Amino acid sequence: MRIGIGFDTHRFDPSRPLVLGGVEFPGEAGLAGHSDADLICHAITDALLGAAGLGDIGDHFPDTDERHAGANSLKLLKEIVSLLAKEGWVVANVDCVIVTEKPKIAVKRQEMQDRLATAIGAPVSVKASRAEGLGAIGRAEGMACWATALIESTVLIESNVS
Ligand code: MG
Repeated sequence: MRIGIGFDTHRFDPSRPLVLGGVEFPGEAGLAGHSDADLICHAITDALLGAAGLGDIGDHFPDTDERHAGANSLKLLKEIVSLLAKEGWVVANVDCVIVTEKPKIAVKRQEMQDRLATAIGAPVSVKASRAEGLGAIGRAEGMACWATALIESTVLIESNVS
């Protein structure tokens, strides 16, 4: 088993749609970014890559690459799960916490968890917290997300079975 941590932060950009955990939040201010700026997917992607020792999201999806402009980050996350599978890793679980003043995350929590779990093939927990007015996140200039991921070697699982 191996564990990884991921972090991401994006500034609000009201001209863009808000997408978190692969779920749209209609009418809410979106986030600036090269892709769809889904920082939950970005933090989880980095946690998975970190656990597997396969670099980081910028190595795999550079923001200088026009192919990733406006990219669906859930799709990129799925690509990384496939990469891990090829390298002999399966995801055990993912936990993440998003820190933001707005919008209310709880109303879409189950939908985000379900969508992420389907993409990853493992349980995903999405929690939300507020910065209580402290710093840039507290002033609602943007949001941040931390994620941890546990992965298991499929090679070891097979050898345990036989
Ligand atoms: Mg990002």
